[in-house]
Amino acid sequence: MSKTFPLNEEQLRKIIKKFPTPFHIYDAGKIKNNLRRLRNAFSWSPAYIEHFAVKATPNPHIVKILAQEGAGTDCSSLAELLISQRAGVTGEKIMLTSNDTPADEFQKAIELGAIINLDDITHIDFLETNAGLPKVLSFRYNPADIMNSGNDIIGKPAEAKFGLTREQIFDAYKISLDKGVKRFGLHTMIASNERETETFLYTAKIMFELATEIKNRLGINLEFVNLGGGFGIPYKPEDKPVDYKAIGEGIRELYNKILIPAGLEKISIKTESGRAITGDAGWLVSTVIHEKHTYKNYLGLDSCMANLMRPALYGAYHHITILGKETLPATKIYDVTGSLCENNDKFAIDRNLPEAQVGDILIIHDTGAHGHAMGFNYNGKLRSAELLLEEGGEVKLIRRAETLDDYFATLV
Ligand SMILES: *Cc1c(COP(=O)(O)O)cnc(C)c1O
Repeated sequence: MSKTFPLNEEQLRKIIKKFPTPFHIYDAGKIKNNLRRLRNAFSWSPAYIEHFAVKATPNPHIVKILAQEGAGTDCSSLAELLISQRAGVTGEKIMLTSNDTPADEFQKAIELGAIINLDDITHIDFLETNAGLPKVLSFRYNPADIMNSGNDIIGKPAEAKFGLTREQIFDAYKISLDKGVKRFGLHTMIASNERETETFLYTAKIMFELATEIKNRLGINLEFVNLGGGFGIPYKPEDKPVDYKAIGEGIRELYNKILIPAGLEKISIKTESGRAITGDAGWLVSTVIHEKHTYKNYLGLDSCMANLMRPALYGAYHHITILGKETLPATKIYDVTGSLCENNDKFAIDRNLPEAQVGDILIIHDTGAHGHAMGFNYNGKLRSAELLLEEGGEVKLIRRAETLDDYFATLV
């Protein structure tokens, strides 16, 4: 799929006059469409809900757009619970899925009436002691290994710190039942940036089988199964997008085959996707401030890893286009860098681009999720502003850029 940007050159230049680069800009219409596409895949499920993973784009303005479209939130910190609250999302529209959870986070979740999803069997007592038990309790299952349909292991959740083992899951529900909890859900999150249909069907299958076994062993009719997030996006133009229709239909078949005969026809499906909702609906807009030619060719930007960490952290690919040069041939090879004293601070390595020069505007694509959110202040670098392109075409500042006063504000 070719990479697009929602504004033409003239519109973007006008915005840059008002809001200097670098900034992330998000497209409200695209965010809504992404939510609808996911929801359509599960429209067959009674009371399906997407709990948007706030950590992907932790800005209440974004969460509010999604809440208006019926989404809830998935939170994993106190700040994310507060963001939900500010966006008007409360009660069971919030699911708290955190780990190594501090007491104040559980207390806030209880105050908001959130669904609490526990990461460990010992958290039942910790929660009860520090905040009391919630109306709805859920547990995060760690299935140890993920197989494909040929039964080859394709992932090793057993190496991950998250979730309860299979035997702990049964004990955890039993303990909670004995403590008087009456409403339950089940959760897992095993994939990340995954685009294969089969992985999601495998996840659903093991979860539906586990729900059936929980009913058989403990007599619990779960209210929901949360299949987690992890829906990938095609970061590279040649990548295949997720086939939501196939995933939705495949999971529906498994639901009909496994849950309905078990008398679990009231279970609703939840997802908690971040990337698939905001990932391709955000762009980092930056200016070339230096062009350097040594053993390689470098374009130095006015942004750095503080604004987008994924390439440096994971070697992740983010597509880059140059404003006004979108259709020119990519005849030069560049490393596109930021200014950190850290050689990893590159947005792209050996990237073919049209010939560029100082003053060019670079658009880094697919930065809407886990982009600005991962920002940090190493080298005293400041996090950029966030802008929102509204459906009517207006552009609104939804977070100002940090200033040096912000940076020094915590010094004693
Ligand atoms: C990060 C995370 C998500 C969202 O992941 P995406 O890849 O953005 O869909 C959902 N649930 C949990 C528990 C997470 O940690």
